[in-house]
Amino acid sequence: MSPNPSQTHARAKGAALSLRSVVRRFGPESGPNSVLAVDGVDLEVGPGEFVALLGPSGCGKSTLLKLVAGLERPDRGSVRTDSFGRPHFRGFVFQDACLLPWRSTLENVALPLELLGQSRAGARALAAEALERVGLREAAGRLPRQLSGGMRMRASLARALIAKPSLLLLDEPFAALDEDARHGLQDDLRALWEDLGMTILFVTHSVAEAAFLANRTVLLSPRPARVRHDRATDLPSPRPPGLRLTDAFLREMQALASLKRTSPP
Ligand code: ADP
Repeated sequence: MSPNPSQTHARAKGAALSLRSVVRRFGPESGPNSVLAVDGVDLEVGPGEFVALLGPSGCGKSTLLKLVAGLERPDRGSVRTDSFGRPHFRGFVFQDACLLPWRSTLENVALPLELLGQSRAGARALAAEALERVGLREAAGRLPRQLSGGMRMRASLARALIAKPSLLLLDEPFAALDEDARHGLQDDLRALWEDLGMTILFVTHSVAEAAFLANRTVLLSPRPARVRHDRATDLPSPRPPGLRLTDAFLREMQALASLKRTSPP
């Protein structure tokens, strides 16, 4: 597919990512307690790409994401990011929103900047902006327990965006939400990506989610994770309203579902 103007714009701001022959094993080298989670993964992601990592539960997706995040180290191979001389911040969003229960929504979102040494007032002004971006302005003063699941996830997304990450890593963040909340957050994440242009790696086991969100889906094998297929999404960008009800979307899901079932040639 040829890049559209928003993708070209996006490429200017995101980090590039390169994984070469990455292996990660937990426990001893062999025996019943040895778990090979990732086995020889090669992956190149260009700046500003939106890539879904799609694979069955337990296949090693989260481990792969943690390797990219620097939260795990590979036993073999290399993981490199390049932000082309610009400051490189990584943002994370997990399935659990992980908000501190005693801090307001605004204070939770401001926290990463406060930890980076930014003044409280400055961090809170930027947190208010980030909350506005995710449609949560009115909830700024509420505690996490006063938010719905979808709102907590929006707050988590705002917190991940506040340091203007060049790489945003998301690990099944919408899996626990009801369908309406999930679709709303997917719509907003796509719009945020089109606007902000960071590189996104999004872990999911849902074909529909990968098709809707990503411009490219990397399909992983059952554990140990290996790259089985790599497919460019054949859908318009930006995603038009009502796309989920179209034949084109159904065809895209069918294509991914059929790749999921087949081994590489
Ligand atoms: P997924 O995200 O695809 O569900 P994970 O990456 O979480 O899969 O896990 C892949 C495999 O690695 C699983 O068998 C899991 O139990 C194992 N695993 C993950 N983290 C650890 C760890 N810290 N110690 C031991 N085993 C682990």
